[in-house]
Order: sequence, then structure tokens, then C-alpha cells
Amino acid sequence: MMDRSNDCAPVAAGGKTLTRDEAVAFLTARVSPIDGTETLGLEAALGRVLAEPVMSTLDVPGWDNSAMDGYAIRHADLAAHEGRLPVAQRIPAGAVGEPLAPGTAARIFTGAPMPEGADTVVVQEVCEASDGQVRIPLDVKAGANVRRTGEDIRTGAEVIAAGTRLTPAHLGLAASVGVARLVVRRRLRVAMLSSGDELALPGEPLGPSQIYNSNRFMLMGLLQTWGCEVVDLGIVADDLESTVAAMARGAREADLIIASGGVSVGEEDHIKPAVERLGRLELHQVKIRPGKPLAFGEVQGTPLLGCPGNPVSLFVTAALFARPLIRRMQGVAGELDVRPLRIRAGFDWLRPDKRLEFQRARLERGADGELEVAVYPSRSSAVLSSVAWADGLVQLQPGRVVERGDPVEFLPFGELLH
Ligand code: AMP
Ligand code: MG
Repeated sequence: MMDRSNDCAPVAAGGKTLTRDEAVAFLTARVSPIDGTETLGLEAALGRVLAEPVMSTLDVPGWDNSAMDGYAIRHADLAAHEGRLPVAQRIPAGAVGEPLAPGTAARIFTGAPMPEGADTVVVQEVCEASDGQVRIPLDVKAGANVRRTGEDIRTGAEVIAAGTRLTPAHLGLAASVGVARLVVRRRLRVAMLSSGDELALPGEPLGPSQIYNSNRFMLMGLLQTWGCEVVDLGIVADDLESTVAAMARGAREADLIIASGGVSVGEEDHIKPAVERLGRLELHQVKIRPGKPLAFGEVQGTPLLGCPGNPVSLFVTAALFARPLIRRMQGVAGELDVRPLRIRAGFDWLRPDKRLEFQRARLERGADGELEVAVYPSRSSAVLSSVAWADGLVQLQPGRVVERGDPVEFLPFGELLH
């Protein structure tokens, strides 16, 4: 799955530290989209990545039709008959009318086909109907309230491009051109492991100095949100042999391996030596806070991303780096990275870090009712409550002092989590 064709990508091994943007560019250049497709009914295709474009064999709408409940007329008849026309037929949606006889009106409803010869629909609110006749103001506009053939989609047009992650609107659009089944890429298989002797699973009693494995559930949730199939390699003990064995299994069973914890260079950190044993390490530092140690490499041909174990750091690095990496491997076309929104700060940031910093943030209403970005009171990367509190991250530039009211870059979870 590794794309080695791009040998001009910066080599980050050997202690070189990349910026956030360099790291995203580096990671996404190292992998390529997986092969393999499946054909699914629209009911099952939400969130999947389209492998073949959806083309239309129809015009939508298929014929000129009424945009309103009202009266279909030939506009030129109005002046000739002083706005008074007999109502000669009634055309509800789903019916087909007769050609409009000269000097008559047709009672018509939203979505019903225009009768042949009619060119204008007059909304019922401005008309007066009585005794089989309708009185219509003379100033109505010719051609009003008609939806034209092919105004939404033309026969032969590409309706949804390959590489699109399918949203509810895309499913509706495919249905509107009569397409019932879509060719999508198979799900990306991602193996995850949690490294740490201190970890226990919820539901089990905690031993002395143990903590519960929160990352397993958070990472699994992120991967599911991003449409991946998860291969759980479980909790891996802090020793080289167990780490190597888990990675080798991940390489056999998955397209990508994501590890949490054990990624620094301490005696108890075995991700890097294990990657070096099985393949090669290509990146291990990014200039951000939290999440500075970050490993990327290849184990037996399968890419591996090693994220720090602190839960907040895991969340931030997964959102910033695993997400675009996964999107690239899933074959998502276009923008892989999140697009920040500029929104005013509802806080002062007077002690900036030397690194690009990501704080847990959410949108709140300021005193004037306008949206502003609030940050969680604790900067600690061990406080997971901050992520649950937040609805986004605020990206704070290295060394930049922010005062309340200054614009800041907000990365909404609405975007990071899809
Ligand atoms: P590490 O990256 O392995 O040095 O771990 C950094 C911190 O994150 C330590 O306090 C670990 O106990 C904690 N940690 C590591 N893995 C997990 C996990 N899966 N769930 C919760 N905390 C973790
Ligand atoms: Mg550890």
C-alpha cells in the first residue's frame, strides 16, 4: 500500500521535525488509494467513497412542470381575454393533461407536467376562481413558475464524481436519476493497538497503578466515524517482542496500522524499535502541541502511524494526521485536510507556545449574540473531559498572542469527524 514512487517527499527520519502542514503533505504522499470495490444499494452506501462516477441517463426534471399550485396558461391569452379564462382541465402531480385549448386555463398543482401549449403558471393566491372561470391579474410575468426540463440535471451529465464520500444528499441525488446501486471502494481496514502495561479494559477491576484504556474506544469511534473496518490488536505489553508480534499481525490483516502510546524514545517505548525491526521509520516528530512525538513508517509493506498515548494527544493527532492519511487511502478526491474557519476569540491567549498549539474549543455566543471561540480551562493533554466538552479545536500559531476579539482558526468537529 506504500507509494514509493514519490521519492522526492522530504525524508523526515533522523530527527527532522516537520510542521503540521509538512507532516500532512508528507503522510498523504506516502500512501495511495486501496484497490477493491463493491456494489451496494443506496440504502447501504452512506459514508462510503464512490469508485465510479454516477452518470445520468435522464433529464431532471424530465419535462417542464409547475413550481406552484395555480393555473397554467398561454401568456398571450391574458390580454386577449382581459384576464378571464375558462378552466378547461385539472392536472394534479402524477397526471398528464390534455393540450391547452386556446383561450383556456388548466388548474395545475406543484410538480404536475405543463400541458402542451401552456407557458406560464399563475399562483392560485392572486387568482379568483368562480363558476368554472378564473380571473387572473394582467401583470403576471410570462414564463413564471415553470421548472424547465433538465434544469437540475441533463442526460449524460456526471451527477456525482468518483472519490466523493457519500452524504445523504448524494444518495438522494443518485435516486433522482434512477440509479439504485453504486460502485464504492471497499472499506479501509485499519488495525489498532493500545500500548501500555498500565492499561485495563472497562468492565475489569483495576490493578494497582492501572488505568482504563480510553484510547481504544476513542480511536475505534474515530475509525468507525471515518468509515473504516477496525481490526483490534488489543492491549500490547511494553516489550519489544509483543509490539513486533502485534505489528506483524496488523501488517497481515490490515491496510494501515494505528498505534496509541509507546511512541516516545523512552526505555518503555517500543513502537519505534519495532517499526525499525520490521520495516522502516520515516517520521517521528511534528512541531505541534499536544502530539509532538508522532511516528510514521512502514511495517512489511503496511503503513503505520504511531500516536502519543495521552488521550488528548491521541485525539488531536488522529484528527490532524490519521484523518487525511485515511482519506487518501480511501480514495477520497479533493481536499484531504480540514479547512479552518476564522472566528473571533472569546478568550485571551497570553502565553503562546513555540509550537503550533491545538486547544479544545467550542463555539459560544458572546455578549452581543455573535459566535465566538471559547477554550477549555485546562491546557493539559491528559484531560480527556476537554475533548468531550469541545465541538472543535482552535489552532494557535507559534508565538502568537491572542486577545479577546482577535480572529482565530477554528477546526470544527463537524468537519474533523466525517
Ligand atoms: P505513552 O505515550 O505510552 O508514554 O503514554 C503517555 C500517557 O498516556 C501515560 O500517562 C499513559 O498512561 C497514558 N496512556 C497511554 N495509553 C493510554 C490509553 N490507551 N488509554 C488511556 N491512557 C493512556
Ligand atoms: Mg506507554
